[in-house]
Amino acid sequence: MISRQFWATLVSEGKMADNSFINSVPHMSFVMTDEHCAYLPKRFDAFKKQKLFEKMEFSTDRNKIHEWAPLVIEGRNESQPVAANYSAEGTDVDFGNITRQMIENLTSRGVKLLCNRHVEEINREADGAWAIKTSDTRDNTQKLTLRTRFVFLGAGGGALSLLQKSGIPEGRGYGGFPVSGLFLRNNNEATASRHNAKVYGQASVGAPPMSVPHLDTRHVDGKRYLMFGPYAGFKPNFLKQGSMMDLPMSIHRDNLLPILRAGWDNLPLTKYLLGELRKTKEERIASLLEYYPNANPDEWELITAGQRVQVIKKDNKKGGVLQFGTELVMHEDGSLAALLGASPGASTAVPLMIRLVNECFPQRKDAWQGRLKELIPGYGVKLNDNPEFAEEIISHTAKVLDIHH
Ligand SMILES: Cc1cc2nc3c(=O)[nH]c(=O)nc-3n(C[C@H](O)[C@H](O)[C@H](O)COP(=O)(O)OP(=O)(O)OC[C@H]3O[C@@H](n4cnc5c(N)ncnc54)[C@H](O)[C@@H]3O)c2cc1C
Repeated sequence: MISRQFWATLVSEGKMADNSFINSVPHMSFVMTDEHCAYLPKRFDAFKKQKLFEKMEFSTDRNKIHEWAPLVIEGRNESQPVAANYSAEGTDVDFGNITRQMIENLTSRGVKLLCNRHVEEINREADGAWAIKTSDTRDNTQKLTLRTRFVFLGAGGGALSLLQKSGIPEGRGYGGFPVSGLFLRNNNEATASRHNAKVYGQASVGAPPMSVPHLDTRHVDGKRYLMFGPYAGFKPNFLKQGSMMDLPMSIHRDNLLPILRAGWDNLPLTKYLLGELRKTKEERIASLLEYYPNANPDEWELITAGQRVQVIKKDNKKGGVLQFGTELVMHEDGSLAALLGASPGASTAVPLMIRLVNECFPQRKDAWQGRLKELIPGYGVKLNDNPEFAEEIISHTAKVLDIHH
């Protein structure tokens, strides 16, 4: 809701050219065992009481579920129990589109964007400024050093090594564990046009939380795709096009113990990842068939979606823990912040940047609150506890973003 309000304001103020980055795509949970079918109505009852989920529906009726997502019902064994939740107000967001629209607006207002630059070093200078040494990725001899009073490290899996290079004490003890994300992508537009939902199942035992299987409609660059996954995998790279040395090079004296401890405590995860790695195409298709029984294997190709670098951090009791969330690491003087974690830059970006602005710029916090309220009218308000205000925000943002309400 925070992101939705932020984007709606940018669109209505003309700071984003249009609302093509967001599409209505219903969100569903779909389960198919007795145990999960007993659990889902309890989850539904808990959600339904909240304003933001009041329109959620629940059904065990195959005809109803077929109306919501025909592909998950057609061809399914009649004796198999099924249950589903359905939220028509769900959305799908193309973050590449958002990024391009925001950059276009910022560059039109004087912001300089440097592409094809690799940050090699980050050093603190005597006067407190940061010196960022960069090289041109196409011609390594073209060096450029930038000086700045504030640095934000939003480099996906590359943020950990940059944080380590900055040498700030708050960055000590952090490590990373890469998990690759693979998806099956459907190549038949006719099939993709028969499914408009994000249908989530239940994660396997031992699987990390972001590996919940889903049959997913995604809009990318104006085209609608049908995806299934993710399948986890392991590569020591921290970026999709990173180096095999990323993981070994990230291990330092200060994070060795947390990494060893987190590894020891997460043997079921390692076992799960090894199992996923060994999966053949037939086994991957077998998982797809659980969700889409009539799937034609020839229509699907396996794509590498990207790398997620899970955070490993020091823990006073255990020595080290593996985290699946997102971590904002900030220098105590607010001059440098780094974003680490499994989902650093997409759905969590807006709330995280508000935290960053408030914590890294405490001296300007009060002056900026008015503008934050304009950008996000519900900022600081618990919408579930304020149903009328929530309704106002939901209707307004739905209208501006042209999404289902
Ligand atoms: C399989 C999979 C599924 C996902 N699904 C979802 C989802 O459903 N919802 C969601 O919200 N999120 C999802 N995510 C997470 C989301 O994709 C990421 O959080 C997001 O893309 C991160 O954006 P970012 O701009 O911070 O980092 P990235 O997109 O990783 O970009 C970082 C950039 O920094 C550059 N860089 C790195 N090091 C340096 C350096 N030293 N110098 C210069 N440049 C550097 C890289 O080349 C890259 O271009 C998913 C991720 C995966 C892998």
